[in-house]
Amino acid sequence: MSSPLILVVEDEVDLVHTLEYNLQKEGYRTQSATTGESAIEALRGDELPDLVILDLMLPDLPGTDVCRRLRNDETTREIPVLMLTARGEETDRVVGFEAGADDYVVKPFSVRELMLRVRALLRRRGSTSEPIQEEISFGRLLVNIPACEVAVDGEPVQLTALEFRLLKTLFVRRGRAQSREVLLADVWDITADVMTRTVDTHIKRLREKLGPVGAYIETLRGIGYRFADQPPPQE
Ligand code: CA
Repeated sequence: MSSPLILVVEDEVDLVHTLEYNLQKEGYRTQSATTGESAIEALRGDELPDLVILDLMLPDLPGTDVCRRLRNDETTREIPVLMLTARGEETDRVVGFEAGADDYVVKPFSVRELMLRVRALLRRRGSTSEPIQEEISFGRLLVNIPACEVAVDGEPVQLTALEFRLLKTLFVRRGRAQSREVLLADVWDITADVMTRTVDTHIKRLREKLGPVGAYIETLRGIGYRFADQPPPQE
């Protein structure tokens, strides 16, 4: 198996060189694009990258547009995106997550930190693309994805098909922030911004049904939701 391919999308050529050099030193293969359009072109190529490092400020289109396009395309939807933002302002982070980025680093960043994030994202991706186990036990929760069954403390929980899809989507992406827009697109198959309240309503109902396990679904203010990375220590 060849080593992971990482697409670096950044218009500062010096930074591209630094990133490519360090990624290659870690054993990754790299590809780079200095504009949003050329990044989109690269994502239509024969070999898709395993991860995209994406600058928010590109000369032609915002990084968030590139990210949205990637998320809206079936073939590139699951590729992890690490966003590079110029400022540490909350708005930048929120914008990045709403566009569907998996993680972000604020410039100037240390190369070491960036490498750690890259490794973590690739590891998470690997864990979600493994064949689906029949039953996954997670703290007090038991999920059987092929059978669409859920139990809390051994007691079956009756969920609607939609609630199950919502739980499954959050659960298989444990530890990754999911914006309301991404959830709407992936659970409801719709992208209308006005509908984000729908997500909140269903999350509320799902949490109620899950009882003590409801708390495993975290609310990220101004961003969306995230299923816990680890179950809390047993009460
Ligand atoms: Ca830039």
